[in-house]
Amino acid sequence: MMFQPRVENAVQALGERISHDDILRCIRCGLCSYTCPTYRVENCESMGPRGRLALVRALIEGKLELSPRFAEKFYDCVLCAACTSACPGGTQSDAMMLEARRILYKAGLAPEPIAGLLARLEAQHNISGEDNAGRLMWSSNMERAPGGLGRRQAEMVYFVGCVSSLFPMSFSIPQAFSRTLDLAGVNYALLGEAEWCCGYPAYISGDVELARQAAAHNLEVIRSAGARQVVVTCPSCYHVFTHIYPELLGEGALAGLKVLHATELLADLLEGGALRPAGQAVRVTYHDPCDLGRKSKLFLPPRRVLHAIPGLELVEMASTGENSLCCGGGGNVESSAPSLVESMAARRLAEAQDTGAELIVTACQQCKRTLTSAARKRRVRMRILDVVELVWQALSAEG
Ligand code: SF4
Ligand code: SF4
Repeated sequence: MMFQPRVENAVQALGERISHDDILRCIRCGLCSYTCPTYRVENCESMGPRGRLALVRALIEGKLELSPRFAEKFYDCVLCAACTSACPGGTQSDAMMLEARRILYKAGLAPEPIAGLLARLEAQHNISGEDNAGRLMWSSNMERAPGGLGRRQAEMVYFVGCVSSLFPMSFSIPQAFSRTLDLAGVNYALLGEAEWCCGYPAYISGDVELARQAAAHNLEVIRSAGARQVVVTCPSCYHVFTHIYPELLGEGALAGLKVLHATELLADLLEGGALRPAGQAVRVTYHDPCDLGRKSKLFLPPRRVLHAIPGLELVEMASTGENSLCCGGGGNVESSAPSLVESMAARRLAEAQDTGAELIVTACQQCKRTLTSAARKRRVRMRILDVVELVWQALSAEG
């Protein structure tokens, strides 16, 4: 009995918040469909940007009923923004997908795995639902403790992010990056238990209030450490800090604080001579994470890092930079539709194989996870590394 009014509100909200003109333009166009990773793997109109918006129109016109199946179409979108980037008319279709998610979440129509994710975030402030006190477990088996461990005040905070903090497959990323910071003599602090999820998973699931709480908390603890800079290895953390925190907390949210992605810092340290990597005779291809590349426009820093490694050859994939293909890891889709993610990752892996590279380098723990599991499943003999791991490998190489 409680469900019906929320559904009616949702239909009304979709009609008010998603422009009728934009929907009509998309329905008559469809030019961006070929860029959409979910459309490309499913070959189905309702899994592409135009089809998703056609569903919104049908709903508003009363030709379709709001249902969990309808909601799934929007929670299956990886929010990669490829459609927005390709649109000649400037339609922000990824923003419309996100708007739809917010409305569907409020209507109680977020898929069950997404509702579970939000419950874990609320209870433990991280995506895994483990005790947040375990956020530094990645550092526990390191030969030498990272310099930032236990340091309460520092110029810079290294904000590690949930996946690298709590998923063992990604521990090597903060291990490599903290060793590199120590080698370069950077004065940084780790927040440990005081670090909460950056808020992006909540934001893109539709729970804006939960994201706002996370943003306010994280900025408070970073400021109380006396830091003027925050460095992140996760592209989603980078995107939410730089693009969403000001939206959630006001334009001055980042006043006095500079947010850097690890690749920006490493590029400066390498080019300035503070880090001197040994040669790596290896052919690599670089996968642009959507949140770092297309959505935050950091295309150059990871490539500057790669070019600073002597002997390394970079070969670009067919779709690269602004046109890069999502690995499937975005939009929290892994929580609700893992097989869809697998198909998207396989497609990206095939593009990487076509380059003849031995190694796929990315700048994201999630891209590394999706591409690695696709490679394992298909017995593809390509390694996938985060760029911070590759840098550490080159720094610690003999000779
Ligand atoms: S987002 Fe732009 S390119 Fe894509 S269908 Fe709509 S109008 Fe066409
Ligand atoms: S944001 Fe990405 S997955 Fe979603 S509709 Fe656009 S191109 Fe497709």
